[in-house]
Amino acid sequence: MSLNEFSLIDRYFRPLGLARNDVLVGIGDDAAVLSCGGERELVVAVDTLVEGVHFPVGTKAGDVAYKSLAVNLSDFAAMGAQPAWATLALTLPSADETWLQEFAQGWVELARAYGVALVGGDTTRGPLTVSVQLMGFVPPGRAVKRSGAKPGNLIFVSGTLGDACGGLRCIVDDLSDDADAKFLRDRLNRPVARVQLGAVLRDVATAMIDVSDGLAADLGHIVQHSGCGARIRLSDLPLSPALQRIAPCISGAPRIRGVESISAAQACALAGGDDYELCFTAAPDMSERLAQIGRSLNCTITAVGEIVEGAPLTLELDTGAEVAIAPQGFQHF
Ligand code: ADP
Ligand code: MG
Repeated sequence: MSLNEFSLIDRYFRPLGLARNDVLVGIGDDAAVLSCGGERELVVAVDTLVEGVHFPVGTKAGDVAYKSLAVNLSDFAAMGAQPAWATLALTLPSADETWLQEFAQGWVELARAYGVALVGGDTTRGPLTVSVQLMGFVPPGRAVKRSGAKPGNLIFVSGTLGDACGGLRCIVDDLSDDADAKFLRDRLNRPVARVQLGAVLRDVATAMIDVSDGLAADLGHIVQHSGCGARIRLSDLPLSPALQRIAPCISGAPRIRGVESISAAQACALAGGDDYELCFTAAPDMSERLAQIGRSLNCTITAVGEIVEGAPLTLELDTGAEVAIAPQGFQHF
């Protein structure tokens, strides 16, 4: 059987994580956490965006830069970590000054907002590829891992899900450029990394991940790492009004294997990917505190299900019926 993205990492790269007692979190979480002595632990993440894979050909340079940093900030948010420095490995088909100027502008807009200094990188010629490594801090022992979910915990997500998938379909289907399509495209091109929320959730969340590949895939990582299962209530998935209006017009919404009665908007929310919202688990008595946190950060936080013993992922349909679903979402291989 051919290797998928995660079995490939497990087979060939996990064994290379030599046993060092300063590696506090290694391969398998949203970022590595490394002990350097002192009052803070070092956090490191890297993500690569390839033209035509992670962003459509023709995406504006400013959006490419913005997204390449945002996706790393999102991994930091998922650890509850504070970003500080970045390195940038840029592969360009040509040295187009207009493109470079716009790229630098898109980068600085977001880097300034989070105080991220660019401290190094590499520049090469080839197919457009942007690789960003982000470094920063977390207080000792406070990084939120994928592995802490417990049966009885509730599952929460920030913001709305499926918008980026809707935005991508608007571009692919060449839908007219109305306000809804623009909103969804912005969600695809300029995702909001929930860094502040992630830091506050260090006191609340038992496990956390950012939704980069789709909720069904990323919650799948939480249950796999935590050794439990999860029940998602389809009717509780937070959907933006724009996605609900546009989804019936798009082609190619993700198919959820084993589930027929699901709307296109719900399918985007479950398996669309590229949302960069946070998915986390917390004890049920944290609900009121989470509502306050959401209000203070102007970010909706929605309970979408609960952690259970046993089977990995179950979906409770609008009819009340429950179906087992495989963890699914975007995979490169
Ligand atoms: P994320 O979506 O949060 O960026 P991924 O799903 O891409 O994380 O990766 C899962 C885990 O595997 C992460 O801990 C990542 O650092 C690690 N990983 C991915 N590719 C490699 C690689 N080539 N070598 C070592 N570790 C890798
Ligand atoms: Mg991640």
